[in-house]
Amino acid sequence: MATRGAIVDLDGTVYRGDTPLVGAREGLELLHDTGHEVCFVSNNPAKSPTEFAARLIEMDVPVDAEAVVSAASVTASTLERTHPDADLFVIGSPGLRSVLTAAGFRLTDDPAACDVLVVSYDRGFEYDDMTDGLRAIEAGAAFVGTDPDRTIPTGDGRAVPGSGAIIDAIAGVVDRDPDWIAGKPAARMAETALDRLDSPPGECLVIGDRLDTDIAMGKRHGMETVLVLTGVTDRETFAASDITPDHVIDGLGDIGSVLAT
Ligand code: PLP
Ligand code: CA
Repeated sequence: MATRGAIVDLDGTVYRGDTPLVGAREGLELLHDTGHEVCFVSNNPAKSPTEFAARLIEMDVPVDAEAVVSAASVTASTLERTHPDADLFVIGSPGLRSVLTAAGFRLTDDPAACDVLVVSYDRGFEYDDMTDGLRAIEAGAAFVGTDPDRTIPTGDGRAVPGSGAIIDAIAGVVDRDPDWIAGKPAARMAETALDRLDSPPGECLVIGDRLDTDIAMGKRHGMETVLVLTGVTDRETFAASDITPDHVIDGLGDIGSVLAT
């Protein structure tokens, strides 16, 4: 079936850190020229869609904030449905806090007084945050995470801990899993992106560098999946995984070979 929508991951697919990946812009142009509407998705929970769009525009990729879905924005939109008017206790970045406050939520410094404990990537994470998490759950708060990425790549290609590692630390101390995690591969992220594209999953490509988030999300939702090797997955990791994408290409610049099939 010919595809007409493309859900495209950001870090490791379009850019790496602050550097655009070679060929990515041309790949996006080809998607556009072949009639694909594109929705960008990122598990980076520290930025709003507007900030991602500004970053892409700086890289010469023209995009509207409406065409970007981020772990922070999906966390906020899901909370709007599940816990409207909630007081949130956040273990996370200043960027995530801004997205949640912009969505109208009150943030509290008292874990025992919150309705929801939101856990995410936090470079200042320490022992006392685990105690706060425990106090929130003891007081009956819901427990949610922004994204499951246990590690994230840095500019020099080495991994550092991401939200998933901190969510696991809190899950360990409170002795239970989060109620939900918003980011890829969660259905709420896929559904938000599909809504923006207004295409059925069977007519959508998912293009990304990570097997357990991008490719897993695409497979779960019946989309055609494309792994790029410009990010966290190399041929060795891919060969050892039981998550099998429909296509593997060196980078987004080679998307033409997928569109031609
Ligand atoms: N989490 C954090 C904290 C990040 O900084 C990044 C990438 O920059 C990611 C997750 C993964 O983002 P993406 O889904 O765009 O690859
Ligand atoms: Ca990625």
